[in-house]
Amino acid sequence: MLDLAIIGGGPAGLTAGLYATRGGLNNVTMFEMGMPGGQITGSSEIENYPGQEKVVTGMELMQTWPDQAMKFGLKHEMQQVMKVRKAGDNFEVELGDGSKQEARSVLLATGSVPKKGGFKGEDEFFGRGISTCATCDGFFYKNKEVAVIGGGDTALEEAYYLSKICSKVYLVHRRDSYRAAPSTIEHMKKAENIEEVTNVTVEEVIGDNMGVTGLIVKSKENGETRQLDVPGVFVFVGRNVLSDALKQDDGSYLCDVNEQTEVIVDLKMRTNVPGLYAAGDVRIEAAKQVVCAAADGATAAVDIIEYLG
Ligand code: FAD
Ligand code: NAP
Repeated sequence: MLDLAIIGGGPAGLTAGLYATRGGLNNVTMFEMGMPGGQITGSSEIENYPGQEKVVTGMELMQTWPDQAMKFGLKHEMQQVMKVRKAGDNFEVELGDGSKQEARSVLLATGSVPKKGGFKGEDEFFGRGISTCATCDGFFYKNKEVAVIGGGDTALEEAYYLSKICSKVYLVHRRDSYRAAPSTIEHMKKAENIEEVTNVTVEEVIGDNMGVTGLIVKSKENGETRQLDVPGVFVFVGRNVLSDALKQDDGSYLCDVNEQTEVIVDLKMRTNVPGLYAAGDVRIEAAKQVVCAAADGATAAVDIIEYLG
C-alpha cells in the first residue's frame, strides 16, 4: 500500500514528491508516463524561474528536479495512470499495463495541454515562433510585431499583455465578436497598437529554417487573403486539462470538477474527496507557471502528511 500516489512528474508532481518524502512519508510513488520534467521540457528558453538568472532551456531547468526528490526516497514508475477509484478509505490506481496499486492518498498533477488551432505550419513551427505562453515568450518579441490567435478571455488578455512589450499585436479571430468578457474586450480595445483582424480563417503560418516569418489569413467575407509579416504567433484557442484519470466507468468524475474538467480544490489543494488532491495546471484558477505548479505541489504535500497522520 502506497502512502501517496503522485500522478504526473512535472513541476507540481516532482515538488510534491520532494516535500512528501523529505517530510517523512516512506512509500511515495510518482507515476509519470514520459520522462519526468513536464511540459516545460519542451520550451527552449526560460527566464522567469526565480533564482535562475541565466536563461536556460526547459530541459536544463528540470534536469536536477527528479534526482533531488529521489534522493529522499521518491520512486518513479514510467506508467500512464488510466483511472483512480475510491476503494473504501483508500484509492485504487489503475495503470497502463493493466496492474493496480492501492494508495492511502492520491495527488493528481497531470497538467494541461494547449489546444491546437489545426492550421498548416502549426506543428512545424511550434517552439520556433509559435508559442502558447505570452508570459514566457513575449519578451523575445520586444519592439517587434506579433500575432495572437483566438477570441476568448485568454487571447484578449494576452494580446493586451503583449501590446505592452511588442510594437504591434494583430489579434486574429475567426468571428467578428469575441467570447471574452465585455470588460476584457473594452480593456483590449484601449490598446492603440492592437489591430483586430476578425472574421478570418488562419490559412497557414509560414517561415524558414530560422523560424516563423508570417501568417496568412483569409477573410470570411470576401475570400481575400492577407499576409501578416510577424516573427511570433501566439495561439490561445483554449486548453485541455488532463483530468481523464478521474473519470469513472459511469462517466462521472471521482471529485468535483468545473465545466472544463479542471479539478476544484481549496487553498490546500484538497478536492472534495478526503485524501484526493490536485496541483498545478490541472486545478482551477491555475496561473500556469512552473513556480506556481511547484508551490502547489509543496502545499499539497504538506497537507497530505498531516492528513495521513
Ligand atoms: P505539467 O508540466 O504539464 O506536467 C504534467 C505531467 O503529467 C507531464 O509530464 C505528463 O506527461 C504527466 N501526465 C499527464 N497525464 C498523465 C497520466 N494519466 N499518467 C501519468 N502521467 C501523466 N512556465 C513558466 O513558468 N515559465 C516559462 O517560461 C514557461 N514556458 C512555457 C513554454 C511552453 C511552450 C509551455 C507549453 C509551457 C510553458 N510554461 C512556462 C508553463 C509551464 O510549463 C506549466 O505551467 C507547468 O509545467 C505546469 O506544471 P504541472 O506539473 O502542473 O504540469
Ligand atoms: P475559450 O474561452 O475556449 O476561447 C477560445 C477561443 O479560441 C475562442 O474565441 C474560439 O473561437 C477560438 N478558437 C477555438 N478553436 C479555434 C481554432 N481551431 N482556430 C481559431 N480559433 C479558435 O478559451 P480561453 O480564452 O483559454 O478561456 C478558457 C476559459 O477560461 C473560459 O471559460 C474563460 O472565460 C476563462 N478565462 C477567464 C479569465 C478571466 O476571468 N480573467 C481569463 C482567461 C480565461 P470562437 O469564439 O469562435 O469559439
